[in-house]
Amino acid sequence: MKSGTKSIDLGGRRLIAMRDVQDAVTAGATSIVAAENCVVTPSARDFLQQHGVELVTEKSAGGSQQAAQPASSAIAGPSVVNRRLFSTPEAEAIKKEICSVGRKLWMRQFVDGNGGNISYRIGPNEVLCSPTLVSKYDLTPDDIGMTDLEGVQIAGAKPRTSELLLHLEIYKVVPEAKAVVHCHPPHATAYAITGRVPPNLIIPEFEVFVGKVAVSPYETPGTQAFAETVLPYVKSHNTVLLSNHGIVCWADTVTHAEWYAEVLETYCWTLMLAAQLGAPISRISEEQGSDLLAIKKKLGLPDIRFDASRMKECQLSDLEVPNSIALEPTPCDGPTGRSGTTTDGDLESLVRSVTDAVMDAMEK
Ligand SMILES: [Zn+2]
Repeated sequence: MKSGTKSIDLGGRRLIAMRDVQDAVTAGATSIVAAENCVVTPSARDFLQQHGVELVTEKSAGGSQQAAQPASSAIAGPSVVNRRLFSTPEAEAIKKEICSVGRKLWMRQFVDGNGGNISYRIGPNEVLCSPTLVSKYDLTPDDIGMTDLEGVQIAGAKPRTSELLLHLEIYKVVPEAKAVVHCHPPHATAYAITGRVPPNLIIPEFEVFVGKVAVSPYETPGTQAFAETVLPYVKSHNTVLLSNHGIVCWADTVTHAEWYAEVLETYCWTLMLAAQLGAPISRISEEQGSDLLAIKKKLGLPDIRFDASRMKECQLSDLEVPNSIALEPTPCDGPTGRSGTTTDGDLESLVRSVTDAVMDAMEK
């Protein structure tokens, strides 16, 4: 072994996840040995690549080692990039749409400074996205860049937003997600900083377009750990409150993802105004709520209440707290039903959902 190099043997593992590679890098590893049949999660591969750590596969226990493919050729998603997608008529139209959505976010005070970001998955491995350090009000089509699904920029003059990693994790696990909008609308963010969710069955539009909102745990924005906080929630929620930060929405188009941000923000704001009136807030009945869910299903929008196995824990509304506008998340709002610090259970479900995504991609 060359001097200054350190290899850490993880050959006994069937799964190597983010925590394993973080530990290895902290221990000073310059290469990691993994069994040939071991699953390495996409984010763990990204992390290794970012830290210049080589991934070496071991043919069989005690067998000869061979250099693995570079960490950049992640299992999830195709690795071929089509640069031509960046200047197609479709891309030009979407760049304009991203700019007009950026302006809407700013005009509605959903973003501040250079905050917020917008992306669109234009190809299987290609994502158009807003740049870092530009106010969403000032965006022009020339500011929009393109990256691959691992966040490597492949086109565009301005560097991509660091929060794109959050968008990419959503694209990797939710095939229906074509667009992601992240912003900081004040009333919804007020919920996010209290770790509470709004009650359901009060306003039909909210029920149909958003419905149950999850709360993901806090991590430092822009990091891979932050990006992964939403993984347990995004398959069954199109809108997630990001603890102590803001919100993220995904949809089939950039415009629709921004609509969901508007619907959630207006709902949270309206509830706060209603609470000030001091009169009881009336509810839509469970039966009428079922009608709304049927409309939602027809529109192809996700809702955790469609999951029959979870219906017991997720009744349509939250009638046991008649006049509260800020509820503790329930199991229906996500796998743990809690926000805040990450527990072993959170990590386990995180690893499980990443592994599922990897397995899905491998099967394809
Ligand atoms: Zn943010």
